[in-house]
Amino acid sequence: MEPNAWNLGALLSAQGLDAAVFGLLGLLIGSFLNVVIYRLPKVMERQWAAECAELNGKPEPVGEPFNLVVPRSRCPHCGHQIRWYENIPLLSYTALRGRCSACRAPIGIRYPLVELVTGALFFYCAWRWGSGAAGIAWCAFSAMLLALALIDWDTTLLPDDITLPLMWLGLIAAAMQWTTTGLHTALWGAVAGYLSLWLVYWAFKLATGKEGMGYGDFKLFAALGAWFGWQALIPIILIASVIGAIIGIAMKFSVGLREGGYVPFGPFLAGAGFTALIAGPTALQQWMGM
Ligand SMILES: [Zn+2]
Repeated sequence: MEPNAWNLGALLSAQGLDAAVFGLLGLLIGSFLNVVIYRLPKVMERQWAAECAELNGKPEPVGEPFNLVVPRSRCPHCGHQIRWYENIPLLSYTALRGRCSACRAPIGIRYPLVELVTGALFFYCAWRWGSGAAGIAWCAFSAMLLALALIDWDTTLLPDDITLPLMWLGLIAAAMQWTTTGLHTALWGAVAGYLSLWLVYWAFKLATGKEGMGYGDFKLFAALGAWFGWQALIPIILIASVIGAIIGIAMKFSVGLREGGYVPFGPFLAGAGFTALIAGPTALQQWMGM
């Protein structure tokens, strides 16, 4: 075998092994994201209730501690505490055939799907950017964006606890050259992302008296600007609108896809963010003929 070919083969297999390790790690992170998606909005609601009580001079409501770590996960139907071997990504769901081991109530298919998608995203990021800081940064981007999309879909909330770190990490990644977005481009991306939707929000509100989106959307758009640069903002908003239109049409035909009338914009922004992740910001601009 030629030395060069051998070196290339070794390099490819090392790259493949790294990506596989990241993929497995992604399954575990995905399992944690399921907890974040379910619990973070509830933790926020409890904090608001406590703050309201404090403002009203009432004693804080006391209860069991509830955060991302405690209490242990339970079956929402029967309260069965989920044991560690019932909580292994993908495998447990398959072994339990998608049902609670105690009451046989079905477990949502979304849990293993979130694990699978996170694993696939981590595999992709490590494959494309390696197992160094750049790969890890894009893995963190993917995990945070996925959590935001699903929390917003479920609750129409985009928690500051995720949107703001996502934006800062994008700026840091640009400064450290973990992304190819220059620091200037990233900074103005964050500024323009926030301000543009803020302006749209106020124009819409003054014209119609309604709120078309929330402040979380501005922060998420600012974060995408920090990761992909200001040039990517128009392609991202156009892609988000296309995804939104497709989902909107799909919802017209399939009743029960989402209860209630209000559809949040965050999941579509996140979908555009994932498109940018896979395609690259330069490709986005070329598609748009920019
Ligand atoms: Zn159960």
